[in-house]
Amino acid sequence: MAKLIVSDLDVKGKKVLVRVDFNVPIKDGVIGDDNRIVAALPTIKYIIDNGGKAILLSHLGRIKSEDDKKNLSLKPVAARLGELLEKPVTFVASNEGKEVEDAVAAMKDGDVVVLENTRFQDIDNDFGKRESKNDPKLGEYWASLGDMFVNDAFGTAHRSHASNVGIATAMKAEGKPAAAGYLMEKEIKFLGDAVENPVHPFVTILGGAKVSDKIGVIENLIPKSDHILIGGGMAYTFLAAQGHKIGKSLFEADKLDLAKSLLEKAGDKIVLPVDNVAATEFSNDAAHEVVGQDIPDNEMGLDIGPKSVEKFREILKDAKTVVWNGPMGAFEMPNYAEGTLEVGRALAELTDATTVIGGGDSTAAAKQLGIAPKITHISTGGGASLNYLEGKELPGIACISDK
Ligand code: AMP
Repeated sequence: MAKLIVSDLDVKGKKVLVRVDFNVPIKDGVIGDDNRIVAALPTIKYIIDNGGKAILLSHLGRIKSEDDKKNLSLKPVAARLGELLEKPVTFVASNEGKEVEDAVAAMKDGDVVVLENTRFQDIDNDFGKRESKNDPKLGEYWASLGDMFVNDAFGTAHRSHASNVGIATAMKAEGKPAAAGYLMEKEIKFLGDAVENPVHPFVTILGGAKVSDKIGVIENLIPKSDHILIGGGMAYTFLAAQGHKIGKSLFEADKLDLAKSLLEKAGDKIVLPVDNVAATEFSNDAAHEVVGQDIPDNEMGLDIGPKSVEKFREILKDAKTVVWNGPMGAFEMPNYAEGTLEVGRALAELTDATTVIGGGDSTAAAKQLGIAPKITHISTGGGASLNYLEGKELPGIACISDK
C-alpha cells in the first residue's frame, strides 16, 4: 500500500518531528561534505513554508565514549543548515529534558530546532543503547514533543531505532500520523520501481570485495533481472566456480558451492569478466597486465579488463532499467579504476533508461566522473539500499503510516 508522504500532512501550526539523516563526515567541527544536509532541505522547507514547526532529530557517527560526544555534536550541522535555509536555526545541546521542552515551547510557526545527536542516548544510562536498541520509552518521549512525525532518514531505514521506529510506533499509538519525507519517498519510488516493477531489459551490475555481502541481492534479483553483470573482487569466486585459475585474487572458499549453484540457477543471466587487469601486488605501483579469465599464480585480479568493459557496455546499451552497486575493481588506485569508471560512463550515456546507483563506492565513482546529474537516482543509503535490493522489509519504512 502507498505510504503517507509529508506533502499529505497539514502542518500549519503543528509541531512536526522530523528524523533526518545528518550523518555527515565531520572532523574537528568541520563538515567534509554537506550533501546529506542539502538532501534534507525539501522536506524541511515544505514544513516551514507551510507554517509548521520543524523539530529535527538525527544521529551522527557512533557514540561509545564521552570523547566521541565532543567530536560528534550536531552543533556545526545546525549552523550549516541555518546557512542553507538562510534563516536562524536553534540548536539544543541535548535531546531530552527541560532544555528541549523549553525550546520546543518557544517555537513559532516556521521555526527550526535541531536537537543533539540521538546516539548521545547510547551511553550513560541503565538501558544501554537507548537509541540504537530502540528503548520504547525514548521513542515515546520524543513522540510526546510533536503532533506528527516525518521519517526522511533512508540511510537508517534498515535499522529499528528509537528515533525512527520508536517515534513512529508511539505516534501511531496515539492516532498521530507518521509520514515519509521527500527523500524517503524518492528512495522508495526509484529503488522500489527498479526492484518490483522494472522496465525491461533490466540489468543489475554488482561489484565490490565480497560475494557474501551481495548473496541476498543476487538471489532476489536473478528472477527479476535480464542480466546480472558481476565485477570486482567478488567476481573471482564465481570464476573459480567455473573452474578458472584465479591466482592470488580475492576468494571466498566457503562461498564456492553457493557461487556454483547461483551460476546454475541464473543460467547465462550472470555475466562474468572475460578479461582482467592482474597485478603482482595489491598496489598501484605493482607490475600489472591484462589477462583473460585465468589469472597467473603470482598475480591477483584488480580490475575488469577492456574486453569485459566492451561486453558490459554492449549489454547496457539496450537496458531500460539499471541498478549498480559496488566497484568493478580496486578503483581507489588509478591503475585499477578504469573498469569502474567505464561502467559509470556507460550508465551516464543511457538517455532512455532509469539508472539507479547504490553504495558508497559506486556513488564516489559517479561523483569523481561528474556524471551524477545524468543518473536518475543515487541512493543515499548504502546498507539500506542493499537491504532494499535484497527484497527485505525495512523497519524504518514499514513503520510509516499507510495512506
Ligand atoms: P565493498 O565494500 O564490498 O563494496 O567493496 C569495495 C572495496 O572492494 C573497494 O575498496 C575496492 O578497492 C575493493 N575491491 C574491488 N575489487 C577488488 C579486487 N578485484 N581485489 C581487491 N579488492 C577489490
